Order: sequence, then C-alpha cells, then structure tokens
Amino acid sequence: MTVLKPIRLVLLGAPGSGKGTLTSRLLKNVPQLSAISTGDLLRNEIAKKSEIGSVASGYIKKGQLLPDKFMAELVSSELGNRQWLNNKASFLLDGFPRTINQATELDKSLQTHDANINLVVELNVPPEVILQRISNRWVHQPSGRVYNLQYSPPKVPFKDDVTGEPLIQRPDDNPETFKVRLDGYFKQLEPLKEFYQKKGVFDVVSGETSDIVFPKLLEVVEKKFS
Ligand code: AMP
Repeated sequence: MTVLKPIRLVLLGAPGSGKGTLTSRLLKNVPQLSAISTGDLLRNEIAKKSEIGSVASGYIKKGQLLPDKFMAELVSSELGNRQWLNNKASFLLDGFPRTINQATELDKSLQTHDANINLVVELNVPPEVILQRISNRWVHQPSGRVYNLQYSPPKVPFKDDVTGEPLIQRPDDNPETFKVRLDGYFKQLEPLKEFYQKKGVFDVVSGETSDIVFPKLLEVVEKKFS
C-alpha cells in the first residue's frame, strides 16, 4: 500500500487480541511503517538483564502495569532514539498508551513536534475468543513473532519459522495472570477511548480472528492515509 501522509498509529486491544500479529502484517503491507511494542521492548530488557528489565519483570510476572511515568519516559526516549519525534516519521505503537495518563504524556511529547497521534484503532475481539486463543499462543521471544497452534502454527512444531529457534509460552499467559491483565485492560479502555474520540482519531475494527480483522484494519489505514 502506498501512503501519502505520515502515519502515527496506536493499536488498542486486549492482551491476546492479536496486536502483535496484526502489527507484523501491517508492517509487511505498509513499507514506511515501523513499530514499537512496549511488551517486546520490556521483555528484551529482561532478557538483557538491564536495570529497566529488573524493574519490569516484577510487574510483568504479576500481570500488572508498570508505572505511567516510567513507561512514558521509556517510550519518549525510544521515539527520540529512533528519530521519530518529528512530523515526517510514520510509526505504530503496540501496547502503549494503556492508560489515560500515558496518553496525556504521549500527547504532550508529540505535540511539541507537531506530530500527534492521528489514528487509534481498537481491536474488538470477544473476551471468550481471547481466553480460548491464549492457551494456544507461542512466541519467538527475540523477535516478538507470535504463533497460534490452531490458527497460525509454525512450519516446524514449536520452532520459529525464520530462525528455527525454539518458541516459548509467555509466563504471564497463565490463566490467573492473564485474567488480571484482561480485567486491567477493560478498566482502562473507556477513558482512553473517550480521550481519542474527542480528538476525532478513534476507530474500531471487530472480528474473531486476525484473518478477519486484518483486512478491516488495512482498509481503515488506507482510507485515512492514501
Ligand atoms: P504486552 O506484551 O503488551 O501484553 O505487555 C506485557 C506486559 O508488559 C504487560 O502486562 C505490562 O506488565 C507491561 N507493559 C507493556 N506495555 C505497558 C504499558 N504501556 N504500561 C504499563 N505496562 C506495560
């Protein structure tokens, strides 16, 4: 797809709603788009055993959100490092902002560069579908590639298609922690939605699988930017 305007896109979706999968598919279809996934960012920091990783691991294990200020600073510095804090860059944020405070902080830091978020898409997947899906989710941790044993299995069982490295199940995908994460998401969703609705940049796509949701997402992006 050829886009004519810079895309500054946020994907909002419950854990397990397919944000990771849809992000990868979108990046393949829209060459000028790059993404930051805060979950992947934090998991890589944990793997590196960095200071950020040591703060993050306790929260992630319990399924809790990291403090807003910490996350806002992390994302802001990541945007800066990648030289995306300008009004020419196109990017997608997956997993951030997750609270109204994070959205407000993001807004402040983008506003000074005349680069506010110009599209927010909520991925609306029924919770019962998500719960069923999550037990089949396996990931390639270094890249963030996500597989579903039922819908999108790896070519070789439990191995990443690209590197052949082993896949893992995320420790925070166990039923107890997952419930905390899912409840947390729905608690934050309404104020976030309202925030972006007021700015006139909010849209929603619904469906039970990423194969159903993806074409709808692509259409929303195409309509807005090409
Ligand atoms: P995810 O891979 O997006 O499901 O994120 C995994 C975990 O990382 C979450 O359950 C949180 O503990 C943490 N995390 C990721 N993004 C954020 C965020 N924007 N705010 C706070 N915590 C986050």
